[in-house]
Amino acid sequence: MNQSSPETLSDTDTGHARAAELLRAAGLVAFPTETVYGLGADASDDRAVARIYEAKGRPSFNPLIVHFADLETLKLHVVWTPEAELLAQTYWPGPLTLVLKRQADSPISPLVSAGLDTIAVRLPAHRSARAVLRAFGGGVAAPSANQSGQISPTLAQHVMDSLGDRVDAVLDGGACTVGVESTIVGLIDKPVLLRPGGITEDQLAQTLGHHIAVRHKAEAISAPGQLMSHYAPDALVRLNATDWEPGELRLGFGEVDCDLNLSKTEDLVEAAAHLFDYLHRLDARGGKVIAISPIPHEGLGIAINDRLSRAAAPREG
Ligand code: AMP
Ligand code: MG
Repeated sequence: MNQSSPETLSDTDTGHARAAELLRAAGLVAFPTETVYGLGADASDDRAVARIYEAKGRPSFNPLIVHFADLETLKLHVVWTPEAELLAQTYWPGPLTLVLKRQADSPISPLVSAGLDTIAVRLPAHRSARAVLRAFGGGVAAPSANQSGQISPTLAQHVMDSLGDRVDAVLDGGACTVGVESTIVGLIDKPVLLRPGGITEDQLAQTLGHHIAVRHKAEAISAPGQLMSHYAPDALVRLNATDWEPGELRLGFGEVDCDLNLSKTEDLVEAAAHLFDYLHRLDARGGKVIAISPIPHEGLGIAINDRLSRAAAPREG
């Protein structure tokens, strides 16, 4: 997309249609939700999702919530469960996010969930958000539309002030009714409250008909099926490889001879877009070691290196 100042879109059919058009062209479009302004991108487009992380300047990849206009479309991407149905019927559209197993054939970018095999999904209630999502038709990844470390935006102007030309357009839907963040419930093994929000633990227990487990932030999670664990390949990972050892799986960056190349042209957005997919693909070959070219420690490279150093860290257990 162009690097000039962002388009301001009106909260009308024309504005919603333009927002959808930009999203289809891998653009970044900020729009209001019932909590804050979200920084939206096509969740199925690796490069568009990489641009979210670039625009926010986050030092790491944390998984993003994917927003949908309707339940039918949402269900194409996740493994639906009776508990999901119960919660969806009660609280959607609204500020509840469900973390579910990803459908094997879902086109949602692996970067959205930072390589995990789960996806966080939500049907927002905000009228403008729904109009944009309906016009677009698919899933839209949308964290808060501010640079990392800054306050969440509740006005279009806040988005402009924080992100400026890092965003292609801002849909001006007025002030967000400043709410709390969406409640996040994991539905992988049993229901777990992953993040408290507008919908309370008691309400969830009422709906489910039983007590819901609560994950406390400080708690170390190490069980299999852990929801917030970070994706780590089975193979060992060797970083900053400037040459290759025999038998290594070679993940390159730049003009190097390798098995898969994150970006021949040293484009960090492209590298981020390929990162999880290529790690998965090399890992699936069943080798002992994945060796990775040095990645410049600047811009998106910081988040890429954060992810890689975790993948290379000594394993527990
Ligand atoms: P935000 O978009 O800023 O409201 O934050 C998204 C929240 O959803 C973060 O706390 C993520 O850790 C959480 N989240 C997103 N995807 C997943 C997932 N697949 N598993 C667990 N938590 C998730
Ligand atoms: Mg935020």
